[in-house]
Amino acid sequence: MKHVGVIGAGAVGLACAFHLRRAGCRVTLVDGTGAVSGASYGNAGTFAPYACVPVNNPSVFPNIPHYLLSSDSPFRIRPAYVPRMLPWLASFLRHSTAGRSRASSAALATLLLKAQSGWDPILDAVGRDLIDGQECLYLYETEAAFHASRPDLGYRKQLGVAFDLLTQADISALEPALARRFTQGVLFRGSWRFRSPHRLLLQLAEYLARQDVLLIREEACRIETGDEGAILHVRTGAPLAFDQIVLAAGAKSRALAASCGDSIPLDTERGYHVAFQAGEGLLSRPCGLAERGIYMTPMMGELRAAGTVELAGFTQKRSTGLLNHIESSARAAVPALSGPTTTWLGFRPTLPDGLPVLGFSRRSKRVIYAFGHQHVGLTLAGMTGEIVADLATGKSLQTDITPFLCDRFGRG
Ligand SMILES: Cc1cc2nc3c(=O)[nH]c(=O)nc-3n(C[C@H](O)[C@H](O)[C@H](O)COP(=O)(O)OP(=O)(O)OC[C@H]3O[C@@H](n4cnc5c(N)ncnc54)[C@H](O)[C@@H]3O)c2cc1C
Repeated sequence: MKHVGVIGAGAVGLACAFHLRRAGCRVTLVDGTGAVSGASYGNAGTFAPYACVPVNNPSVFPNIPHYLLSSDSPFRIRPAYVPRMLPWLASFLRHSTAGRSRASSAALATLLLKAQSGWDPILDAVGRDLIDGQECLYLYETEAAFHASRPDLGYRKQLGVAFDLLTQADISALEPALARRFTQGVLFRGSWRFRSPHRLLLQLAEYLARQDVLLIREEACRIETGDEGAILHVRTGAPLAFDQIVLAAGAKSRALAASCGDSIPLDTERGYHVAFQAGEGLLSRPCGLAERGIYMTPMMGELRAAGTVELAGFTQKRSTGLLNHIESSARAAVPALSGPTTTWLGFRPTLPDGLPVLGFSRRSKRVIYAFGHQHVGLTLAGMTGEIVADLATGKSLQTDITPFLCDRFGRG
């Protein structure tokens, strides 16, 4: 039986482990801080197959000064971090032209529109009590913002995304606790929410343990490949030997890919959440505030307001400005919100073209990449697991992964 090591036990690594095990492989997960400790812990919990328009799009160009200087922008760049991020930023801007951004959307849509099929077998195994079928609602405060989003909505429709447009009265009827400040809404068909992404993924980890998938708590340091297999060097224990290794370490995958000889421009888009402890019952579905860059999602025991984008690497301290922005936006949208809050900072794994890296390492088929899912890693985890299992077992792929291969940024 083929033995596959999966680095990273976030949504993507766990889903890869599930599909690999289902395909008959022996699987060992390796995670430095334990299951579901990264971006998969505190996200907005939306299953969002409609989210095919990445952050790299033409609207970034006129807004750059705003991102650098404004205190009310949901997308911020820490000026002190700009020099360290220049190559990534330059590539990000190159991929933000209309043509390239549309190409990224089209590629992403091929994965997103099949995302449900990747989650279904997982949900059949762990149960559906931690998901809820109410669709996601996107809200606009001003006619101008809605008008500006029209071309993207049109393109989504062209790609196969189905949605309904709602009036102010429709919005109030669906979500009476919302302030009457939203002039337009978009309800995305086929979307749903995780009632607690963290708990559901822990249930998946427990299920995998019962299927003899071992979870080793170790930090992976280097991957070495040869004719006989792949060796994973870890921080404290003895090296681990596998037939194949799947790299699913989220935003921290870059150095491990480099140890395989692949230079991949992975960086992080930081995002935050503010959880209102008593707010669970106020909304029935995820409500996205278009102009504020956040979602408000009812979760078990809380209403979670999550989102924003901050380019500032891993080590800079939390932005109180962005946390205040999230909290005040949520309170303005749902006036009844009260009670204590907790906060969280997470690191989205993001490539400059907004697409994940899927497929074999350039140097060796002993290593399979599965990282870089930016804002949609929870949604795409199941689908990614399916692709990885097909690659590992030599099955023909149901999806063309050419746009996601690691050599798209050059030979590294
Ligand atoms: C605010 C916010 C809101 C979001 N909302 C949504 C949403 O509503 N819907 C959606 O689909 N997506 C959403 N996302 C994106 C989603 O959370 C991520 O894309 C997804 O969690 C990435 O999963 P992952 O498994 O690749 O990475 P992670 O969850 O970060 O997991 C990576 C794992 O690898 C481990 N690891 C890292 N380095 C090493 C190493 N060297 N050795 C061993 N282990 C290592 C870490 O400990 C971690 O457990 C959101 C993200 C944020 C920040």
